[in-house]
Amino acid sequence: MTVFDCNVVNCSYNENNCCRRNDIRVEGMQAKAPSETCCASYQHRGCGCGCGRNAAGEASRNTEIMCEAVGCRFNDSKKCTAKHIGITGGHADSSRETECGSFECCC
Ligand code: SF4
Ligand code: SF4
Repeated sequence: MTVFDCNVVNCSYNENNCCRRNDIRVEGMQAKAPSETCCASYQHRGCGCGCGRNAAGEASRNTEIMCEAVGCRFNDSKKCTAKHIGITGGHADSSRETECGSFECCC
């Protein structure tokens, strides 16, 4: 399981640079750079849907990562094999403004 940090403070699931979800999905099927990836599980804080409250338990750095960025050297059959990654987007207001900062192109 990949350990990660996330600095997307506008996301409902973020707490102290950790994620309260049990799993996240990273998008970027055609990505050749970190900016072409994003966390598809982002939910804007205060969106009113209760997603933050419904998130399971404590913030964790051991969230399961399903990743569609198959051009990344850490991607193995859509699982992230990196030991430690960072999801970034300190000023993000949408999923598209987030990214996996640890993406490394295997192209
Ligand atoms: S942006 Fe993604 S990784 Fe970060 S807290 Fe939100 S759901 Fe979790
Ligand atoms: S490091 Fe690569 S495989 Fe892991 S989540 Fe980021 S883009 Fe996906």
